Amino acid sequence: MLDNQKYNNDNEVTTDYDYIICGAGCAGISLLLRILKEPKLQDKSILIIDSDLKQNNDRTWCFWEDKIGFFDHLVFHKWSTLNLYTDKNNLKLNISPFSYKMIRSIDFYSYAKHIIAKHKNISWKQANLSDAGSLNDTAYIMADGLRITAKYVFNSIMLDDTKLKFKHDKCYKLLQHFKGWLIETKQPIFNHSEATFMDFRVSQDKGAAFVYVLPISSTRALVEYTFFNKYVLNQSSYDELLENYLEIHLRLNRSDYFKIETEFGVIPMTNHQFNANTGNVINIGTNGGWTKPSSGFTFQFIQKNSDVLVAKLKLDKRPVLEKNLKIAKYNFYDSTLLNILYYNKLGASEIFFNLFLKNKSRVILQFLDNETTLFEDIKIMNTVKLGIFLPSAIKQLVKSVLKNLI
Ligand SMILES: Cc1cc2nc3c(=O)[nH]c(=O)nc-3n(C[C@H](O)[C@H](O)[C@H](O)COP(=O)(O)OP(=O)(O)OC[C@H]3O[C@@H](n4cnc5c(N)ncnc54)[C@H](O)[C@@H]3O)c2cc1C
Repeated sequence: MLDNQKYNNDNEVTTDYDYIICGAGCAGISLLLRILKEPKLQDKSILIIDSDLKQNNDRTWCFWEDKIGFFDHLVFHKWSTLNLYTDKNNLKLNISPFSYKMIRSIDFYSYAKHIIAKHKNISWKQANLSDAGSLNDTAYIMADGLRITAKYVFNSIMLDDTKLKFKHDKCYKLLQHFKGWLIETKQPIFNHSEATFMDFRVSQDKGAAFVYVLPISSTRALVEYTFFNKYVLNQSSYDELLENYLEIHLRLNRSDYFKIETEFGVIPMTNHQFNANTGNVINIGTNGGWTKPSSGFTFQFIQKNSDVLVAKLKLDKRPVLEKNLKIAKYNFYDSTLLNILYYNKLGASEIFFNLFLKNKSRVILQFLDNETTLFEDIKIMNTVKLGIFLPSAIKQLVKSVLKNLI
């Protein structure tokens, strides 16, 4: 096989692509649709590959936003009031000017396919990626045994060498794992203008755990049981926990609701430094380190970073994210919080509840989005337990100084 190969829509080999996007998930599609919106880039020849046909609602994305977002037309439901519960307290947060928005992945994938179908320069191929690399000024991938080249490869797929590096790295590794049910109740019990953001009134014995309840009508809600810890449970354990939660906190017996859909997910919460790019292979999404280490939120970081990459492509610049002080600042905050969660120095319920109790919710949401000023950060720091946060922060500072020296 020659290097300079590509598929057209009939699977015939012709010439190179401008870009190859590996993974038609959140990051791959978010980037592709922005490229197609940009007049200077929309005629580029692009191959997008995924081993999955993306025909299922495999995840539900929630995020907050204070403006009309790129995917606003796909927002399935949104809330302006969020509730937080602990054993002792509860908080009702008016998150204005933000809304907490929900997008169902099936709507996202279907919309992407609809747009892609209108562009003859885009090829979608179901294939398994086994390698990606860069030679001279060209990037290549190996997919289903074929070598395909492009000017740039944008890769959201974690390859084996990345997984191995991650496995052996002595960083903090927590897992955010969760199982949720979309349920329909026989009686109207939900207020669909309010969501439960975090309900910590559940056992914290297996590490930080909380439930979120996202009502989309008076009889329908997504209820997810979430952990931040080191080990995933077996599926039946989540089921039991979900049933108990529904019974105790929503007073729903097994016969009071139907399960419509099930969602299960694992998101890495880690301060591992994912490789941002190797030559002309640009890593994106979770594979590019775009998941917020201390919360697992990724959707909005994907949107912001995709904007940056497309702006650079438009200017014929290398589509890479520059390291800067702002990124270093939030890496430091995230590592500090991860250290506290990893060693269970303070419960997640106390950390998150106090942050929202003692600060404006707008500021905390901006903080969790890496969008606060240093002045706001200092104000937030004055509201946390310094006796716990300070030693962890100093430890992270020393570690990062030593890492840069060695
Ligand atoms: C169930 C779930 C719910 C989530 N909810 C939220 C949320 O509410 N808010 C939020 O901010 N974040 C959320 N996240 C985290 C994050 O936003 C998502 O994981 C997001 O999908 C990450 O985007 P991505 O493109 O990096 O990865 P993905 O969307 O997972 O895309 C990667 C793609 O690569 C494909 N692929 C994998 N291996 C191969 C291979 N070898 N060859 C070919 N194709 C391959 C997969 O099929 C997939 O389509 C959630 C994650 C999960 C798992």
